[in-house]
Formats: sequence, structure tokens, C-alpha cells
Amino acid sequence: MKSYKTPCALAAVSMLLLTGFADESGKGVSPDAALKVISDGNKRFVAGTPERPNQSPAHRAKVALKQTPHTVVVTCSDSRLSPELIFDQGIGDLFVVRTAGNTADPENLGSVEYATAVLGARLVVVLGHDKCGAVDAAMKGGKLPGNIPAAVKPIQRALPKTKISLDEGIAINVKAVEKVLSTKNKMTADMVKSGQITVKGAIYDMASGTVRFLD
Ligand SMILES: [Zn+2]
Repeated sequence: MKSYKTPCALAAVSMLLLTGFADESGKGVSPDAALKVISDGNKRFVAGTPERPNQSPAHRAKVALKQTPHTVVVTCSDSRLSPELIFDQGIGDLFVVRTAGNTADPENLGSVEYATAVLGARLVVVLGHDKCGAVDAAMKGGKLPGNIPAAVKPIQRALPKTKISLDEGIAINVKAVEKVLSTKNKMTADMVKSGQITVKGAIYDMASGTVRFLD
């Protein structure tokens, strides 16, 4: 797999660091605490007992001044998967990076780098989901119109040539993005190594609402 370099993101981050945007960077909750917050939120969502935290007008006004999200969610654009709803979180809690098929394009990597290095998010969740149309299209191949090939190519690069099921393809794609963030993309890999961030893969089950974290 090719290595990713994001000089523009690095330059932007350096500039933001210099201009003092990062004064709270790394001061958020620990990766484990963030994982517990979203796991508990998902349990409430599944049970149909959401608390809908951090959505009051006062909170909205507070975070308008400054954002310190605890978790980055790299996920699919699918209309049936809304990170704030399924993790029962509010405004300013999650920094969400969405493309069809939750891929590790340089643009997406730059967004993750900004959320972690500049805004101080400590947990990165790569979240795929069952019945993913983007992974399905990538597996089926063939000619696709417009810019859709650009959306499915990163998924196709992650998939093996052997015959696999859609569920296997979805999990392999999540693990591939998790691996890029954890080991291949220097800026996030360095943060993983130092313990500043944790990267977790997960699969969302649309019918039950359950998020299953992968090891
Ligand atoms: Zn999808």
C-alpha cells in the first residue's frame, strides 16, 4: 500500500499551532474515557433511551466560541448512519469525516490530523456498517458513471483479489483504514505511538443500532 504524505495539512497545522489555536490540544479526555462515553451512548441509543446531551442553546453558544471534540469518527455517508445519533452525543462532541465507504484519502487523513493534532481529539473511530453500498459497488467493479469511481477506488485497493462476502469486505475495508491511520500515515502513527490518540475499527449494524468494536 502506498504511503500517504500530506504536506498541506502539516503546513496548515503548523500555522494553527503558531497562531494559538491548539492551546487546548491534548487536554481532552483520555482515549479510554472517550471510548466509554461513546460506548455508553450507543447502549442508550440501542435501548431507545437517549439522553441527547449537549444540545441546549447555552451549550450551543458555548461551543460556538471553541470546539474540543473528544472523538473523530471516520465513517460512511450512508443516510442511515448518523454518528451523533448512534453514539447519543451532542454539538461539539464528535468531529465527523464522512465519505461513501469511509476511506483513507489524503483529504480525509488531513481532516483527522486537524481534529487530533489541532483540536485535541484523543480517539479515532473508523466506522463501517452492514449493507454498505460503496463497498458493494467496489466489490462488484464494472463501469461506474461520473466521479463514483474515485469514491470506490480506495476501497478496491484495500480488498483482496479472492472471493469474499460483503460483510468480510466491509470489515477488511475498516481494518485497512485503521492500519493506514495507526501505522502508515506518519502524523497519526506518531500520535498513536506516543499514546496521544487511539484508533479503533468498528462496524455499525443498521437494524439493531449496535456498534461492534473490532480488535
Ligand atoms: Zn456505506
